[in-house]
Amino acid sequence: MINLLDFDSAAMHEFFADRGEKPFRARQTLRWIHHRLVDRVEAMTDLAKATRASLAREAEIRAPRVVRDSVAQDGTRKWLLDVGGANAIEAVYIPEDDRGTLCISSQAGCALDCAFCSTGKQGFNRNLSTGEIVGQLWHANRTLLADAVSAPWVEQGRHPITNVVMMGMGEPLANFDNVVAAMRIMLDDDGYGLSRRRVTLSTSGLVPWIDRLRDECPVALAVSLHAPNDALRDRLVPINRRHPLSALLGACLRYIEKAPRDFVTFEYVMLDGVNDSPAQARALVALVRDVPCKFNLIPFNPFPNTEFRTSPHGRILAFQRVLQDAGLVATIRKTRGEDIDAACGQLAGQVQDRTKRRLQRIRVASPT
Ligand code: SAH
Ligand code: SF4
Repeated sequence: MINLLDFDSAAMHEFFADRGEKPFRARQTLRWIHHRLVDRVEAMTDLAKATRASLAREAEIRAPRVVRDSVAQDGTRKWLLDVGGANAIEAVYIPEDDRGTLCISSQAGCALDCAFCSTGKQGFNRNLSTGEIVGQLWHANRTLLADAVSAPWVEQGRHPITNVVMMGMGEPLANFDNVVAAMRIMLDDDGYGLSRRRVTLSTSGLVPWIDRLRDECPVALAVSLHAPNDALRDRLVPINRRHPLSALLGACLRYIEKAPRDFVTFEYVMLDGVNDSPAQARALVALVRDVPCKFNLIPFNPFPNTEFRTSPHGRILAFQRVLQDAGLVATIRKTRGEDIDAACGQLAGQVQDRTKRRLQRIRVASPT
């Protein structure tokens, strides 16, 4: 069965053209799905009855199934979503006074194995489809509206989610085609109509794909830097061995020419005694001298069996001060949703491991 959530505008137009339908049917369908958030073809009441009936025979609107829905004290909400084959992914809603942000996953697991990341530790399972990626946004908007979430922009008829960050599980640029198609739906006026500045993609630094993103879908860019030199970054972010810092910073400079913002955000996870000294902060200032950028310092979120510890708060402040004294904007990320493990780097689809173990037990127990 075709999943209509998989289609961006071009694919939807092609789908209807192949069936001899007029182009405006594609736009109508996109709007039903992504504006009105319907979950059934039958609900698209301004499509001709015959069109609806034939559409319903071959296509559906299929978002990932919710396995768990947790709400934190601070209003952060995390959905654990089943994507089949004992794989689960996570999407996190972060409410703020002036925006509603959704943190979206792009892969089940991740192959890049950064030393401090719990998603990386579980290994790579598979790429998410376009429908599974944009389905997280469709699901969040639908659920929050059904729960009558209150926000001034919702009262004005806008969707609860105003900003998307591709910072959940997975490396978005390693699933380029599906991620770009999903982001096109987010940006499309017949889709979610978000501006490019309100969609942020975070990458660990896949240089050739940063260039492709710049040419094909330049949204706001965040780059996971985490170290001021190649020797340390090689250890923390292994993809650095293939795309070292000089190449990465070159790609950032090229990106800024087309980016919706005139800076790149550098993410920097604060690891106690590893990358958090004032000398390393000074080396960082020198490293990024030529790149218009802002820093987001992320307190490390520990997980079981990790060798790392979070930098003490005073040390993070001292690090921040060195950057600020050099004229850089540097913020410290507020940890949200701690009581439901919804913070950055905590997303690992825990049900997956348990389901997998259960499946393994069943296999072991089976005589065949
Ligand atoms: N794969 C992409 C996007 C997902 S990770 C990337 O690496 O950029 C989103 C952010 O969380 C990245 O900056 C990542 O380095 C950071 N992160 C990963 N594990 C973390 C942890 N345990 N504590 C804090 N931040 C972490
Ligand atoms: Fe993958 Fe990003 Fe985690 Fe690195 S930090 S393992 S790239 S999800």
